[in-house]
Amino acid sequence: MLLYNTLTHSRDEFVPNEPGKVKMYTCGPTVYHYAHIGNLRTYIMEDILDRYLRYSGYEVTRVMNITDVGHLTSDGDTGEDKMVKGAKREHKTVMEIAGFFTDAFFADLEKLGIRRPDYTQPATGCIDDFIRVISSLIEKGFAYEAGGNIYFDTSKLDKYYVFHDFAEEDLEVGVREGVEADGNKRNKADFVLWFTKSKFDDQELKWESPWGIGYPGWHIECSCIAMKYLGEKLDIHCGGIDNAFPHHTNEIAQSEAYIGHKWCNYWMHVMHLNTSSGKMSKSSGEFLTVSLLEQKGYDPLAYRFFCLQSHYRRNLVFTYENLDNASGAYRKLVGKVAALIRETKAKPGEVPDAEDFAALKKRFTDALDNDLNTSLAVTALYDALKSKTSAATRLAAVKDFDTVLMIGLEAAAEKLIADEDAKKAADAASVPVFSDDPAVRAIEEKIYARAAAKKAKNYAEADRIRAELLAEGIVLTDTAQGTTWSKQ
Ligand code: AMP
Ligand code: ZN
Repeated sequence: MLLYNTLTHSRDEFVPNEPGKVKMYTCGPTVYHYAHIGNLRTYIMEDILDRYLRYSGYEVTRVMNITDVGHLTSDGDTGEDKMVKGAKREHKTVMEIAGFFTDAFFADLEKLGIRRPDYTQPATGCIDDFIRVISSLIEKGFAYEAGGNIYFDTSKLDKYYVFHDFAEEDLEVGVREGVEADGNKRNKADFVLWFTKSKFDDQELKWESPWGIGYPGWHIECSCIAMKYLGEKLDIHCGGIDNAFPHHTNEIAQSEAYIGHKWCNYWMHVMHLNTSSGKMSKSSGEFLTVSLLEQKGYDPLAYRFFCLQSHYRRNLVFTYENLDNASGAYRKLVGKVAALIRETKAKPGEVPDAEDFAALKKRFTDALDNDLNTSLAVTALYDALKSKTSAATRLAAVKDFDTVLMIGLEAAAEKLIADEDAKKAADAASVPVFSDDPAVRAIEEKIYARAAAKKAKNYAEADRIRAELLAEGIVLTDTAQGTTWSKQ
């Protein structure tokens, strides 16, 4: 399988450290608000990777952090803690909003068919781990204390900007316009591992540490949580592209300084979901959630389908028009699968053809082996539906591919079939009961024939019947409950 690796700037053959086993880490949400559908694009694409590795026979262990402390509004070392800001907005405590938005996040994952990682770890549960690793970094000479905070000393590394060869001055974090430079830092790129002093002193959650009462920086959380569950060698680390710098760059710096060797071999970054006015972000306050899409009548799985139609390494533009197109295509796809299920039910006992199935599957795996080309994988699904092979083989392929794509095709198609059958049964049951009085019966039969003509969109016939009754002095009135008649 080829996977684009931000570390090497190329599509590399994926080879895990230990044959057959994959250790995977994915940066999780900062739980100060709902996840927006941009965040969820990243989680959907990571889910495809996770599921496809499992589908390919790997035993995957996947870990995700839940950031409930230390993520500052700048992504660097300046600004207020996002959690504190969120708590103020909601008039709740930090732990209350962390619990609420973590639950909301898991509910979103479920709606979008995203497998819950094997381990999800809130940062506040690992304070001892952070203190242990920071202490070791100080001992080894990679970290220093200044002005009450503990900083990582990036000058101690041979190479700090591992993903890019940018000039250092172009990558200053926190020294943006209107933001004061942190005079404690020995080097511009140094970053905080532990805060005891910050301009925003109303931090709600603080812990005892050898350096005073304080709280951890966001970057150290991911390094420690990954190492806690996955050891010192990681196969894949994922996140949105905005995480590459400074977050992942800092994770690599401190992890490798701590363990003394290369930490992670593959770095996968998902490009952003943008709106017409730029990147969708929580901090802007203007963002879309899964619940909001549901309120507007969209199926969350249609959003997943929308994401699958484009490659994860391209920015994706969200508009309702684009989502409407994806939803329409998704509904049609479900209709095709429903028709296929009916076809297989009409031919019980037919078994899939192994050779044809393997040929269809090869197109699917070729697509995903090629740097997770999900849009081609979706094309392989359409190819399977159109294929000349038996219905049983086609359906087996669709079900098989959907264990990775997870757009709920079988369940949605079965529901469609059940709804269609129920409607047919209801129509059959509503055969009218006409009056015993022959004169009344003649009128009722004409009204019934007119309703049937309208249903069949034969309006000329419907009008003709109405005119015929009027000629007999019978006036029709159409109501929401049906048509009534009276004598003129
Ligand atoms: P956060 O909850 O802000 O820490 O972000 C959670 C994940 O979503 C991270 O992996 C981010 O890189 C990613 N992310 C943030 N904004 C977007 C966006 N507009 N499109 C795609 N991914 C995003
Ligand atoms: Zn992270």
